[in-house]
Amino acid sequence: MLLFRYGAEGFFAAGASLAEARVLFSDPLETPPGHWRFGRTVDLAAEPLRAPWSPGKIVGVGRNYREHAAELGNPMPAEPVLFLKAPSSVIGPLQPILLPPESERVEHEGEIAVVVRERLTRGASRAEAERAVLGVTAANDVTARDLQRRDPTFARAKSFDSFCPIGPAIRVAPDLDELAVACWVNGELRQSGRADQMTWGVVDLLLYAARMMTLEPGDLLLTGTPAGVGPLVDGDRVEVEVSGVGRLVNPVEALRVPQPGQTREP
Ligand code: MG
Repeated sequence: MLLFRYGAEGFFAAGASLAEARVLFSDPLETPPGHWRFGRTVDLAAEPLRAPWSPGKIVGVGRNYREHAAELGNPMPAEPVLFLKAPSSVIGPLQPILLPPESERVEHEGEIAVVVRERLTRGASRAEAERAVLGVTAANDVTARDLQRRDPTFARAKSFDSFCPIGPAIRVAPDLDELAVACWVNGELRQSGRADQMTWGVVDLLLYAARMMTLEPGDLLLTGTPAGVGPLVDGDRVEVEVSGVGRLVNPVEALRVPQPGQTREP
């Protein structure tokens, strides 16, 4: 089952594929997927797809793949490295990643992202963590690498507007151990990884994060990126695919900074 959001209103639709989606009447945070109620079929090919989710907090994980830690010259940490990414950085399929003038090196990070459906707190069991997952989607944890190295925290480097493309769909209730992620820039494969290569798996990461901060319905967890990160420049086209989710495509544009008194179009 795939969960989409579409159109100006951001309605949910769900089905086995893009072509078989029906309007979802149920609230995916209130009603378990097996009890969802549906309306008419909807032609999603004729509708603009939106980001499939509007997360509460976004929890990121650094250095979860050994080869990625090595390529940035970092040792593997003893525990997961957690950071937070601003929810305002989320964009959907085909929306542009905007390169801010503050950075000279913005990089792609293709990742498996997990949407939390049930509240998860310190002391939760592995079974509870597994049940707490609504599904997975593809994410691009876009990062201003120069600012990440320069700043004492990751906050700025990870949170510019447009730095969290997600989509095109949420794959509901997948096998969390069988997932793979890949990332292309201008059609060239740059990154490829599998969940079984992660140092900490999805459930490990949910339980670890929930020890510090309650994971609430709607939160999003980014599970880390495999080796092969690299720069994005104006005019690039970046794609991230996660097993069974489909391919998330985003163009890359230099941000035209608004003059004082103007606001940028959302
Ligand atoms: Mg990342």
